[in-house]
Amino acid sequence: MLIDPQRCICCGECVALCPMNAIRLRPKDAASGRDAHAAIDRDECVECGVCFRSGVCPEAAIQEESLPWPRILRKAFSDPVFTHPGTDIPGRGTEEMKTNDVTGRFRAGMIGIGLEFGRPGVGTRLREAEAAIRRLLPLGVALEPNNPLTQLIADPATGALKSEVREEKVLSAIVEAIVPEEAFERVLAEVRAIAAAADTVISLGVIGKVAADGRVPAAEAMRRAGISPSLNGKVNVGLGRPAYRF
Ligand code: SF4
Ligand code: SF4
Repeated sequence: MLIDPQRCICCGECVALCPMNAIRLRPKDAASGRDAHAAIDRDECVECGVCFRSGVCPEAAIQEESLPWPRILRKAFSDPVFTHPGTDIPGRGTEEMKTNDVTGRFRAGMIGIGLEFGRPGVGTRLREAEAAIRRLLPLGVALEPNNPLTQLIADPATGALKSEVREEKVLSAIVEAIVPEEAFERVLAEVRAIAAAADTVISLGVIGKVAADGRVPAAEAMRRAGISPSLNGKVNVGLGRPAYRF
């Protein structure tokens, strides 16, 4: 995203709209005679498009630009109306976990995790998610192949991302994976360590099937690990036809 300094009248209307606080007002420069204007910190801008789409600028000074690789990743992960080329859906994840009753991605004995790095106001560098992937792979997790982060991995054995994408900043990125039930508590302990080392905020979403006897093994494991899960249930009453067979 760019601001045309020739058009900008430095009204400041766009500043509060930026979720990354990346728009700064520059005072008039007496030495060069340059008028006061707004400028975007390109390292902090995640190309979410909010400032442009809002139409707030009275002078049409905020202008979209053609984004080269790897900067286009910022938009792919941060702009909710941009269709991600890797998943064919807007946003930074794949199908929501709550559609599992149709997709059958998480079967009995398996637990799904969605580890989200960053939030509006904070953001994250892709290297934060890479560090988590590197720590989780040795525990036997299977990464979701259609997840946009998974598709940026250069070395599937270690989880190393393509080197040129690591420093790209995005609003948030989600590591999606399937964990064998017996490895779940070790994964939870590792997630705690990942969170302690991360330079951003992290949230963990977990999905597990209800067992035939009514137990929820994923929730039990979380309680043993000292985590109080907030349970949300979903029952397929037939509106979503399962697209899988056991
Ligand atoms: S595109 Fe988004 S992050 Fe970049 S300056 Fe505009 S509102 Fe801020
Ligand atoms: S809204 Fe437009 S004119 Fe006002 S500070 Fe932002 S870019 Fe400049």
